[in-house]
Amino acid sequence: MSEEILVNVTPMETRVAVVDNGATQDIHIERSARKGMVGNIYAGKVVRVLPGMQAAFVDIGAERTSFIHVSDIHVPGSDGRSRASDAIADYLHEGKKVIVQVTKDPLGSKGARLTTELSVSSRYLVFMPQSSHVGVSQRIDDGEERQRLQQLLAQALEQEEMTGQGGYILRTAAEGAGLEEIRADLRFLKRLWTVVSRRGKAARKAELLYTDLALHLRTVRDLARPGVERILVDSRESFTALQEFCSEYMPEVSGLLEHYPGERPLFDLHGIEEELQRALSRKVELKSGGYLVIDQTEAMTTIDVNTGSYVGRRNLEETIFKTNLEAASMLARQLRVRNLGGIIIVDFIDMRDEEHRRQVHRALEKVMARDPARNKITGVSELGLVEMTRKRTRESLEQLLCEECPVCNGRGVLKTAETVCYEIFREIMRDARAYDNDTLMVLATQGVIDRLLDEESANVADLEEFIGKTISLRVEPDNNPEHFDIVLL
Ligand SMILES: [Zn+2]
Repeated sequence: MSEEILVNVTPMETRVAVVDNGATQDIHIERSARKGMVGNIYAGKVVRVLPGMQAAFVDIGAERTSFIHVSDIHVPGSDGRSRASDAIADYLHEGKKVIVQVTKDPLGSKGARLTTELSVSSRYLVFMPQSSHVGVSQRIDDGEERQRLQQLLAQALEQEEMTGQGGYILRTAAEGAGLEEIRADLRFLKRLWTVVSRRGKAARKAELLYTDLALHLRTVRDLARPGVERILVDSRESFTALQEFCSEYMPEVSGLLEHYPGERPLFDLHGIEEELQRALSRKVELKSGGYLVIDQTEAMTTIDVNTGSYVGRRNLEETIFKTNLEAASMLARQLRVRNLGGIIIVDFIDMRDEEHRRQVHRALEKVMARDPARNKITGVSELGLVEMTRKRTRESLEQLLCEECPVCNGRGVLKTAETVCYEIFREIMRDARAYDNDTLMVLATQGVIDRLLDEESANVADLEEFIGKTISLRVEPDNNPEHFDIVLL
């Protein structure tokens, strides 16, 4: 397996694509406008203690002073937070230097909310330097797996000689992780924490000590696994930042980094832009001539496999078999690229041959096994639908890049001009009874007015006669063809 990671950086957004043998497997996007301060660690200075509120204002160098409550102050030795009944003045005084982490972004006139309980995270772990607890994410619900991870972490800590130096939480992503991966994470966290605490001790004024890694750095931390051949970065600045990051925390990855200085945009060159467009459309073409239709509802994702329009009769069964095989690998890739999770129902084209059915099922199992997100093929229903589940991780690509269509409100379909015309007729009847104006003017979109003047013209004439009033028509530009208005003149 030869994987490449492509990193495209602009001031507004960073996009990362994982390409495996030329096929895009994963796309990650982060927009700078959405990045808040939560998780950032600062050296701050107490500017005011508010005994009445059991809180204090802290300057962390942000526009507004930030806020800390006594219940968020770590008490050394207690391995837990201070109690709300403790007095804030016992811990903080004006001018005192404190190391704090942001738990809530500033909102309006309110400054950020802080804690002195610090934590930093890696791919599989959250490290809490002031604690000694070891916990497992609640989202890992398998009791055996929880126990295995606890033991694995204890073993890794021992091998890295890091036992008893802080607390840890095994994150949801740790599910299925091996010893070497946990050890690599521990080494990363140790280096990271050494840097953060050294900078904290040296800080003389309010200063940012640690920020959750930007996407391009996080990508390298999380995705630079064995099998990755190179990491291509199209921005000189980010490339340099990555080099520094790797030499400091992940020296084994440094050799994979490459700067892409080319004229042609990196994502165009590797067909990722095209892949992104495809990943946002409902229909996905297959080479065999067939296509997939992918529908996402709140409850589940359904994938319908279809043959192409022309299928020779002679090889029908063979064509269906090939289409289903291609569909299996394409749908697995689409699930990853779109980042779809939850319940997934696949409707393959019916196959008469028992052996073909078995092979398609096996092909699906094989491609899904390579998906890093936990997934399970749960069965084949009576109607031949394949049911599976895939773990939800990040937001789906669609949630990230799209919003509900304001025209159809997410239904995905619109009333036909014919339906709108009949609604107009009913409305005219109501209005004609309620008011005694001589003329009713219909305002509607071009398509609806066209229909009233053409196919429905006889009906409009009949209606005019029936109500004894004049109906006039006017085109009103509106991007929603369902909209219309009746004006009394
Ligand atoms: Zn729509």
